[in-house]
Parts: sequence; structure tokens; C-alpha cells
Amino acid sequence: ALDIGIVGLPNVGKSTLFNALTKAQNAEAANYPFCTIEPNKAVVPVPDARVDALEKLLKPAKTIYATVNFVDIAGLVRGASKGEGLGNKFLANIRESTAILHVVRCFEDGDVAHVDGSVDPIRDIETIETELLLADLQAVENKLERTRKQRGDKKAATLADQLQVLRDHIAGGEPVATYTPPNEDMAKQLRELALLTAKPVIYCANVDEGGLTEEPELVTRVREHAETRGAEVVRICARMEEELLGLTEEEQAEYLTEYGVTAGGLEQVIRTGYKTLGLISFLTAGPKEVRAWTVTRGARAPQAAGVIHTDFERGFIRAEVISFEDYIKYGSEAACRSAGVLRVEGKDYVVQDGDVVHFLFNV
Ligand code: GDP
Repeated sequence: ALDIGIVGLPNVGKSTLFNALTKAQNAEAANYPFCTIEPNKAVVPVPDARVDALEKLLKPAKTIYATVNFVDIAGLVRGASKGEGLGNKFLANIRESTAILHVVRCFEDGDVAHVDGSVDPIRDIETIETELLLADLQAVENKLERTRKQRGDKKAATLADQLQVLRDHIAGGEPVATYTPPNEDMAKQLRELALLTAKPVIYCANVDEGGLTEEPELVTRVREHAETRGAEVVRICARMEEELLGLTEEEQAEYLTEYGVTAGGLEQVIRTGYKTLGLISFLTAGPKEVRAWTVTRGARAPQAAGVIHTDFERGFIRAEVISFEDYIKYGSEAACRSAGVLRVEGKDYVVQDGDVVHFLFNV
């Protein structure tokens, strides 16, 4: 499954963020009967202005957004890689995630204790990332040892040399994400090892309400660190997002007047997460339903059809595709057809983000 694991030191706001995501899930749960509700997983609709626009245009009976999964992985602390406490279980949870959302405390609050006694996001990031690096180092060293034991096997010897390079890369403090495998064999090894620091990371800088209007220095430092990793940063006030989701629209408006800030951090977390997983959405639109569907970037038309129904993939004939912009411009599928902007695409067509698609298939 494509899950985003939420990690971070204790008391940085992970549960608060996860609660907000769970509320966002539950608010829409009725439209997602196909999603099972699990205590540590939030299946959250991805806000999508294109879906909103098509809904407004077509007034369908039902509107369904794409979803993204967030998994709460609490309890990662210093020493986790040595299996202290429940460390290993958390690392296993991260291993199963496709991407990592790293929550970092960027708010000052004397009432909220910090495990290391002071607020310092870069030190915190390094604490967590060191644990992940140590776990990866261990995994690669184990593999290296096993490979070395395969004496007389020339292929194994080559692999051992390459694993040694990777081992040194990690031991030098560099995440696996910045290591490029020299060949397909090693790329395959990497996939099998499912190393933690190979996963894409999003940093979530958790700020106070005040930190939304003016970016705190602490967040700027997180941005600088993220840049060296090619990672994205989202700034959010988790506490406000959580509180707002429980309020009526009127109360929300009051809250916004009081603090002079608008919510939207949660939306950004969800959208950035979806993007980081390498996912795109195509759309289906009709009087019954407007819906966004998820495919991996690069998916071809038959695979996209298969997301809707396996029979659609097996019996795929062709896809009729309208760009979202054209659909809105002409107002209906029929109008797009007359205007000549409806394209007929075959099995090799690579589906684009925002395509409005109608599949034709044999049953
Ligand atoms: P976790 O241990 O990382 O899951 O952290 P929690 O979500 O339990 O948050 C720890 C404490 O920090 C709780 O008392 C939260 O209410 C508080 N907290 C979370 N976000 C913020 C914030 O943006 N500002 C302030 N002042 N407190 C926050």
C-alpha cells in the first residue's frame, strides 16, 4: 500500500496532526465505504479544485476525491535503532511506508516539555535521522556479511564490493536517497532492503498560530536543511487545524478573525504527501458521479482503467480523453466532442494529471 508514515520525536505534535487527519477522514467517511477504518491509519481525501469545479458544473449525485493514507508511527526516540524499548517495531512500521512525514517542533511553549530540554528543530531532525541511518547501516552490514560468506561466487563478490560502497556512504552520514546504484542488480538489492533513508521525506514544521502569519527563524532553518535533501517543507499549526475541524463554519470564521490566519496547512500536508508518493489523479465525470482516481505517474491507459475495475483493464479498447481545462471551457463531454478537443487514445497512452477520461471496453 502507499502509506505515509508520520514520525518525529515525542511532544512535537504528531498526535495532534494525526487527530486532525483522522477528523478529515471521518468528515468524509460516508463517501468512502470502501475504506476500512483502522486506529493508526487515516485515509484522507485529497482536496482537489478540479473535482470541485466539475461538481459545480455537473451537479452529480456523488463526489469522490482521491485519498491518501497516513500512518501514525509514534514512539521513535533516540536509541530506537538499537531496539531499545519498542524501537524495532517502529522501524518496521517505517519500513512499510512509501514516504515519511517528519514532524518537527517549531513552536515555543513552556508548558510542553521537550525530550532534550529545548526547542531546536535541526538537532531534532538529526536525532531522528541518525536512528534511521543506524538502522540502515545495520541492515546493509548484515547483507554484506551474508554476501561475503558466499565464497567462490564471482557475482556475490561484485555485489559485496558494491554493498561496501553503500555501507561507507551511510556510515558517512548520507541518506540512501543520495546514493545512486551503479547497475540494475544493485537497484534490485536496494528495493529488497527497503532502507529507511531511501524513502522520500516531507518535513512538517509545526508552529504556533503566530508562526502562520510570520515565518519563524526555526522554520527557515528547517527549509535550509530540507533543501540539502531536495525535500519539501510544509508549515502547519497542527493544534489550530485540529481545533478548527471540530468547529462549525461560523465558529471557524470567528477563530480566523481572532488570529488573523487561515487554515490550509492540513490541505498542504495532504497534497504534498500525495505528490511525494509519485501519484497523479485522473478524473471521471458524469451526472451520477464526479470522481478523482489515483494512479502512479507514468501509468498507461489500461492500468488506469484497471483502477476503476479489473474488467476495464482486461477488456480495454480505448480511452476518450478531455483535458480538465477543455472540459470546463466547453461544459460537457458532448460539447468537447463537437469542438474536436476530445482525444481518442490507445493502450500506450500515458495518463496525465487532470485528464477527464471515459474508458471503452469489452466485457
Ligand atoms: P506527539 O508526542 O508528537 O504526538 O505530540 P502531541 O501531538 O501529543 O503534542 C504534544 C503537546 O504539544 C500537546 O500538549 C499539544 O497540545 C501541544 N501542541 C501541539 N501542537 C502545538 C502547537 O502548534 N503549539 C503549541 N503551543 N502546542 C502544541
